[in-house]
Amino acid sequence: MNPTDFPISPPRAWVEIDTAALVENLAFAHKASGCGIMAVVKAGAYGHGLEMISRMLESAGVEFLGVANIGEARRIREAGVSSRIYLLGATWEAEREEIVARNVTPCVSSVEEAAEFNAIAKRRGLKLAVHIAVDTGMGRGGFVAEGIVENFAKLAAMDSLEIEGIASHLSSADEDEEFTWRQIRSFEETVEKLGGAERFRWRHLSNSAGILGYPVGCRNLARPGLMLYGISPIPAYQQALKNVMTLKSRVTLVRTLPAGHGVSYGRSYVTTRPTRIATVGIGYGDGYPRHVSGNGAEVFIRGAKHPVIGRVTMDQIMVELPDDSDVRCGDEVELFGTHIPVANVAAQADTIAWEILTGITPRVQRIHLP
Ligand SMILES: *Cc1c(COP(=O)(O)O)cnc(C)c1O
Repeated sequence: MNPTDFPISPPRAWVEIDTAALVENLAFAHKASGCGIMAVVKAGAYGHGLEMISRMLESAGVEFLGVANIGEARRIREAGVSSRIYLLGATWEAEREEIVARNVTPCVSSVEEAAEFNAIAKRRGLKLAVHIAVDTGMGRGGFVAEGIVENFAKLAAMDSLEIEGIASHLSSADEDEEFTWRQIRSFEETVEKLGGAERFRWRHLSNSAGILGYPVGCRNLARPGLMLYGISPIPAYQQALKNVMTLKSRVTLVRTLPAGHGVSYGRSYVTTRPTRIATVGIGYGDGYPRHVSGNGAEVFIRGAKHPVIGRVTMDQIMVELPDDSDVRCGDEVELFGTHIPVANVAAQADTIAWEILTGITPRVQRIHLP
């Protein structure tokens, strides 16, 4: 065989990523928040491809890219992206030298963390911009209200740090309005206590649900993740966003099974009559959730929706077709995206859209459409 006979193998499962829709969603986030944007690209840009999406967002114009760890920041830099990068959570010692060396902007959650950043920056002869994180109810990071004035004074005295921002995080903006307003008020009070809005170049606490549902007087930076990728955590705003990711595979077999024939592991589904069934080349090994089994999941083939039957297996699923179906081997199948909302798949799998998107595995090819 000549190796050039097969330059690329056709993908079994792939995602198509509509980058124009991503840019439209970014513009909407900008308009809806009235703020500068920190585009959240953690977890491989929510499964959409870290390097590619970071490049797109940089050229569309953002103030920061938000990541979860220094490894993601490194990959973005190595992809040639020069936008400012912000680290969304607390750090541990071994990460900090590289954070300072690459001039990534951390938020700080404790005096000890800040002191270590200060020492590293001093040793390197530079001044590191940091944001002070404030815990207004998320319980994951940041300074709690008690003692914050004293702690802030300690940070402000560290001469190799520049406290250029103040941040918090909303825990329940898509579930609990009253608590969310309490967090927002508490954030605004903290900003006042620490010197007022003018003291901080950047003030931010809104994720997608916060941007969509809650105007905040003192914020001037917003941190959208999910909504950039076309999904609204608050269903009422869904129509304002454009779908970005569509997960696809292909039919690999079509045939009719006789009545009384089991379908998939455990025979949780047994045909009651001769049934036309398509096998599709995707499974939980690609990130299509096994938990949708038996919960009403549908796929889209040739202009119509068809139910998934039996359990999702690692690499294949089965779909019931009408008796007169013209679905054939090789047909394209949409698992979610333009016709099947990912929110439906998430609900059927008893989870959230964030987990479905970030759970798409490396085996699935990412195809970025212009
Ligand atoms: C992930 C994350 C976001 C983005 O949240 P979405 O709900 O996806 O918009 C914003 N801020 C912080 C601190 C995060 O960890």
